[in-house]
Amino acid sequence: MAIVTGGSRGIGRACAVQLATDGYDVAFCYRSGNDAAAETEKLIREQGAQVYHAPCDVADYAAVQAFIKDAKAALGPVSVLVNSAGIVRDNPMVLMPHEDWQAVIDTNLNGTFNFCRSIVFDFMKRKEGVIVNMSSISGVYGHATQSNYSASKAGIQGMSASLAKEVAGYGIRVNVVAPGFIETDMTEALPEKIRAEALKSIPMKRYGGADEVAYLVSFLVSDRARYITGEVIEVDGGVSL
Ligand code: NDP
Repeated sequence: MAIVTGGSRGIGRACAVQLATDGYDVAFCYRSGNDAAAETEKLIREQGAQVYHAPCDVADYAAVQAFIKDAKAALGPVSVLVNSAGIVRDNPMVLMPHEDWQAVIDTNLNGTFNFCRSIVFDFMKRKEGVIVNMSSISGVYGHATQSNYSASKAGIQGMSASLAKEVAGYGIRVNVVAPGFIETDMTEALPEKIRAEALKSIPMKRYGGADEVAYLVSFLVSDRARYITGEVIEVDGGVSL
């Protein structure tokens, strides 16, 4: 079974559906979900996979542990974890409210820790398991107005590299995917001026699709990636060139 956080929408949904296509049963969580979660459930079922989903605030460690327990009761042992839940609260640092710094760190970085921490011992005991954590090119290179978000994503990268070293001997792999500008609700919410500026910076001259991130996640969790761990792989249409 695969667990995907933030699976109700966007990149998380694309990963959840792709993993179902790859043959995994899928458990996914979200903050509020509503109709979006029902749509993801439908798309997963269409692939012939079993599905479990529930609201779970990734920043709440006790809620994360309860979600994993219930997901395992519904679908069996976990072999794949994809941490995709994430938020932005953009502002230049000089204007950034402290609560926006804290909210982004709590959800993006602490949320990823909470899931990794709650699952990794199980993976170690079974000597099986793959983790993919979602960063961003903003975490690799920084981005003005995103000091909170960049810090959370750079933190994910450092945490994943350390965890990869800790568990490689148990046959567990941990990798990070760093997308560029991907068309989801998160980027839809940006002002048109910023979207247009972003487009100009992309050598491939188009935004990415969530499915194009999911293809990389699908590869990284597969046995074809069995010698890849501790990497940060960008999927960004060439932005970082
Ligand atoms: P969306 O805003 O489209 O979806 C975010 C998902 O995360 C939703 O399912 C949302 O649930 C869930 N979520 C948010 N906060 C929490 C929380 N506290 N607990 C549980 N679930 C939560 O985002 P994207 O699909 O665009 O982004 C997915 C990941 O990819 C994020 O980590 C983001 O930082 C990263 N990324 C995105 C890029 C882009 O261009 N879109 C670029 C680089 C990285 P709900 O529906 O209930 O709100």
